[in-house]
Amino acid sequence: TSDVTANAQKSIMLPGVKNIIAVSSGKGGVGKSTVTVNLAMALKKAGAKVGILDADISGPSIPIMFGAEDLQPLVSVKDGKNFISPIMQYGIKMISIGFLTPADSAVVWRGPMASQALKQFFGDVDWGELDYLLLDMPPGTSDIHLTLVQTVPVSGAVIVTTPQKVATADATKGGSMFSQGNINVPILGVIENMSYFTPAELPNHKYYLFGEGGGQQLADKFGVELLGQIPIVQAIREGGDEGRPVTMDEHEVVTSAFMNVAEKLAQKI
Ligand code: ADP
Repeated sequence: TSDVTANAQKSIMLPGVKNIIAVSSGKGGVGKSTVTVNLAMALKKAGAKVGILDADISGPSIPIMFGAEDLQPLVSVKDGKNFISPIMQYGIKMISIGFLTPADSAVVWRGPMASQALKQFFGDVDWGELDYLLLDMPPGTSDIHLTLVQTVPVSGAVIVTTPQKVATADATKGGSMFSQGNINVPILGVIENMSYFTPAELPNHKYYLFGEGGGQQLADKFGVELLGQIPIVQAIREGGDEGRPVTMDEHEVVTSAFMNVAEKLAQKI
């Protein structure tokens, strides 16, 4: 039927990519990009070939979080068709609108332009062979989300939330988008970020600054597993700002937390 044809056409675009995973959140600022970056590093550490497509067109964070903001992808034209080589940083292939626009300039694009740019990120970028292509989705629900799920065969979505009510409420809306109308993208699990804070001088204490249990509740609502709880850790924030994901190093709490999430995720697909 037409659905089957559409899926076949979608797969032709990315023949070497085994799994496309949307990393999504309802609200901005919950750490979706941070989770994307560290999950990518964890999957790579586990031996997978990983790419990141920064679909957050108006607020691309991936170049900075990878310390790659000064790099530019190579664009060539052959037979009237564009070929874009993704940036390779720390062994991860990545593309972002942030690599293609001047730093500090705001990207105020209308929906159709943003959608067109994203289509190029799939169709024109030479992704090669990948086990996982992670999509860092824009927050919320929009035209861009629809374009994404209609353009490529998304294998599944991971929902990132903080434990607090305003975040889980928005994440519920964001998650239900994946099963609307003819969209049928399975939710693979929930990742709770900023779950608690443990001060260095009180190593046995957990302070639940954003409340407790929101990630599990959201997972229950979707009937999926809570894949992990990532604490609030200064090194996570520093890694993002310094352009060196903390999971690259053996941070005793954070690296193992992301490695566990990566392992659970790999079992789901
Ligand atoms: P989003 O992509 O959801 O908008 P970001 O990933 O940009 O959110 O994260 C927002 C800010 O919070 C960033 O400065 C990031 O470094 C910080 N951050 C995210 N998760 C954590 C965490 N677990 N611990 C400490 N800081 C975090």
